Amino acid sequence: MYVGDPSGVTSKVALAGGYNVPVTGAPSSEVLELPLPDRLLIPLTSRRLEFSELRVKDGQRVQPGQVLAVDHGHYSIPLLAPCAGTVRLDGQEGHIVLDELEVPPQEPDAGSSAPARIGELPPGFSVATLVEMGVWQFLSDARTGAPVDPAVSPDVVMVSAVRLEPFVTGGEAQLPGNVDAFARGLSLLHAIFPDCAVCAVVPDTDDPLALEAKEAASKCGCARVLTIPLKYPFDNPALLARLTGLAGDPHAQLWATSLEGLLALDEAVTHSRPRTERIVSLAGPAVTQPVHLRVMLGYPIDAILNGRLCREPARVVEGGLLTGRTLPEGWLGLGAECTGLTVLGELTERTFMAFARPGVSRRSYSRSFVGTYRPEIGVRFSTALAGELRPCISCGQCVDICPARIMPNVLHKSIYAKDLERAIDLRVDLCIECGLCSYVCPSKIDLRQQFVDAKAEIQADMEAALALEAEA
Ligand code: SF4
Ligand code: SF4
Repeated sequence: MYVGDPSGVTSKVALAGGYNVPVTGAPSSEVLELPLPDRLLIPLTSRRLEFSELRVKDGQRVQPGQVLAVDHGHYSIPLLAPCAGTVRLDGQEGHIVLDELEVPPQEPDAGSSAPARIGELPPGFSVATLVEMGVWQFLSDARTGAPVDPAVSPDVVMVSAVRLEPFVTGGEAQLPGNVDAFARGLSLLHAIFPDCAVCAVVPDTDDPLALEAKEAASKCGCARVLTIPLKYPFDNPALLARLTGLAGDPHAQLWATSLEGLLALDEAVTHSRPRTERIVSLAGPAVTQPVHLRVMLGYPIDAILNGRLCREPARVVEGGLLTGRTLPEGWLGLGAECTGLTVLGELTERTFMAFARPGVSRRSYSRSFVGTYRPEIGVRFSTALAGELRPCISCGQCVDICPARIMPNVLHKSIYAKDLERAIDLRVDLCIECGLCSYVCPSKIDLRQQFVDAKAEIQADMEAALALEAEA
């Protein structure tokens, strides 16, 4: 991985671990535009956000970009109407339904408010504009992934044009035609937060689009360029910040955003428009034709999947193969933070004598399964990634692959023994939740989930201790 600052100085950073899972079902870079559905089913929750404070009434007509609800617990981040429509509040629990949809013709840029030069902010612009325009949901704390406080300024913002997790939409679908907007977004970020270091994360490949993005980021003169190998999960902001030394000061405000976030920022500042459409992936081995889709928030999941599955029953995962979560029950439309849908064939039968002949038809990172000796072909996953559950056999594969350089097997044992103190000593906090240890584990232990839960428990204990201290 190479790190270059705006003055052109480049240095190399050592990497360890990481792995690209061989898998079929990746989407092509083609972006398919879906027709306007009869109605949108907009979930009121997403992974991090809960839009519990409604700002509309049943039967109200709303316009594109109008606030439907806000997440009061997270800086009033708004949920915006993706198009004109009539609000139905009693249609589906946990959703705002919009029907009688209408997409007004795109208005030309608001001339007077459009900036005159690249990177120049329009008159009257403030950070609040970014919150109102729905850009804030794309910004997160690089260390924790939590939403960030608009009242403080960042010391570093990392903008990643790369997404390496299998099936998640990244620059290959979002950059074509948007390289100028990418460079402009970097300049705008620098103009909004002049004291902050902007870092553009681009892939280290000869792909013309990647080279174009790298050149644009270098030329804009306001961003440090991080060139990363195409190896999962070296696009992870927490890991990048640690490896490059950007995370050196524990009190520094270290923020991250995606290419989509930067394009949303550019659209909000340059064109005075909220980004009302998303590009998300529909991928995985159970999908007939994996593609990227241009859709609106709330697009019905049923309509997305209809006629596009080749294996059933199938499990729909919100997000990528390694860190996505099974689509929550009762969830009917595309959520505010959804980056894609991964569809896997559901494993419906147990493998006969799986303990005795594990994995004739399975491959693994290690040579645990007989399938390793079959020819190298793309792998058709089911929801049983690596066979059936067994105890840890101390094979050490999770240690080899962990990019955070912690000991997942030892951590697992301490958590299994409910020894959270030991988990803290073993630096569970450094886990970036990439899921590679769970993937390679031949015993199919969901190590990642154990670490996610342990971190949440430690955090809750710390908060409770602080609250007690404050009371005393
Ligand atoms: S311990 Fe955390 S960082 Fe290491 S491989 Fe597992 S999920 Fe990834
Ligand atoms: S990969 Fe699984 S079985 Fe192997 S050491 Fe790690 S936890 Fe144990």
